[in-house]
Amino acid sequence: MKNDKFSHARGGWSRVLDVSCEGCGVRLCYYQKDGPGPLKRMYVDRMINLTPRDDQLICSECKRILGIQITYKKENRPAYRLFQDSIKKKITSQSIIRQNQSLR
Ligand SMILES: [Zn+2]
Repeated sequence: MKNDKFSHARGGWSRVLDVSCEGCGVRLCYYQKDGPGPLKRMYVDRMINLTPRDDQLICSECKRILGIQITYKKENRPAYRLFQDSIKKKITSQSIIRQNQSLR
């Protein structure tokens, strides 16, 4: 888990989400969500097993466009703004992530 000025700005606590495509259900990535509130955008530096570089965030399976790249101006930070109902998410535990990374 990253613990930096961005997570501190959001209250200093984070959780890991398992993010998948709403359309086909395939896993997109794990994502560190800092602080409370809905998931409206995903910061690139918080995506755990994905480093997208395209203008659009596209499902690798069904090719649906899930969001578009933006720079969150307040923090000058690259992110993807998610379209409404484009993704599903569930809270996962860090141990699952570690397990997953050791398998890769
Ligand atoms: Zn999909």
